[in-house]
Amino acid sequence: MEINEKAYKLGSNRSVIRELFEYAKKRSAEVGADNVFDFSIGNPSVEPPEIVSQTITELLKTENAVALHSYTSAQGDPGTRKAVADSINRRFGLNLSPDNIYMTCGAAASLTISLKAVLNPGEECIVFAPFFTEYTVFIENAGGVVVQSKPTDDMQIDLDDFKSKINKNTRAVIINSPNNPSGVVYPAETVKKLCDILKAKETEYGKTIYLIADEPYRELVYESVTVPYVMNYYDDSIVCYSFSKTLSLPGERIGYIAVNPNMKDGKNVYLAVCGAGRMLGFVCAPSLFQHVIKRCIDAKVNVDVYKANRDMLYNALTEYGYTCVKPDGAFYLFVKTLEKDAVKFSERAKGKDLLVVPCDDFGVKGYVRIAYCVAADTIKRALPKFKELITEYKLN
Ligand code: PLP
Repeated sequence: MEINEKAYKLGSNRSVIRELFEYAKKRSAEVGADNVFDFSIGNPSVEPPEIVSQTITELLKTENAVALHSYTSAQGDPGTRKAVADSINRRFGLNLSPDNIYMTCGAAASLTISLKAVLNPGEECIVFAPFFTEYTVFIENAGGVVVQSKPTDDMQIDLDDFKSKINKNTRAVIINSPNNPSGVVYPAETVKKLCDILKAKETEYGKTIYLIADEPYRELVYESVTVPYVMNYYDDSIVCYSFSKTLSLPGERIGYIAVNPNMKDGKNVYLAVCGAGRMLGFVCAPSLFQHVIKRCIDAKVNVDVYKANRDMLYNALTEYGYTCVKPDGAFYLFVKTLEKDAVKFSERAKGKDLLVVPCDDFGVKGYVRIAYCVAADTIKRALPKFKELITEYKLN
């Protein structure tokens, strides 16, 4: 073939999530959207905060249109980068400057750029199962090798397993909390231990190992749960952030990379981030939305809506007899399948128009993911079908 074979394969085999998402559209046309229970994709169901639309309207009315829609600096508008740095400093007691911030079009770009910036060909990047499936694509695209660390039974980090996976070829580790697909949040104690392990390994091997925190769900946590900020535990850290979920703006493609100001080699890493952005063509993140972010930096969506969905779904499914990991954040429920093969289970659920994602590609077998970022009424109407499904399994 005279084209890039890997790219062709990725383009021709849609991810299992996209496959189900497309199926939902087709099936809706056949039986009506109300009769299809699409729990496949993490598209936020809560409206963006009011201040976002007010700001867009205001900007369009008052700003010079040419300036508003023009290219910004490659790494982003200085005022926006300052607003991001100030917000991080206020919330986490740090001292970032605009020169630690690189604006991106979402977490996917933040990750691809960061990985390209730190990985040399053949170096290893550790991911914690279950993990967002695209990590494999992003790491391999940067020339890296994916190394999986298995979870504990409650989908937390198994620190012993993690330690055993680090070697002299390890260059980076990705941590994602609140987690897609499990919804778990890694507590401060775990993050501290993980960072202590990394520090010891850096000393043992005399090299830098970068900790990359992928944080599109940081603000989506329930009750009093807090998400530790990695920069407070480990100097060689990079935060990949996105406003896709916290402001419900996934289609607008806006996020950032923050390089820890206390990183010894931080200036060079930031320059490598700029260079990787250039290599990948990820420069000048969407201008209008950079201006929106500058003015809405501390806004967030109403998380109570997701919490109510979590409670309704988790309480009902566990009552019916399903085994679920209780999510503390994000908007996913990780459910043990009623037969070994998650794909077969998902197919059987599909027979009832319940679209749930088999999680083999997320690095854990025997689970499906239910994205509960849907209308509460959809969950309410889906519950009898989940009940029917488990009843049928119990009968055979
Ligand atoms: N990382 C995780 C864990 C995600 O779940 C997603 C999207 O669902 C992304 C990254 C990509 O986010 P974005 O839409 O901001 O590119």
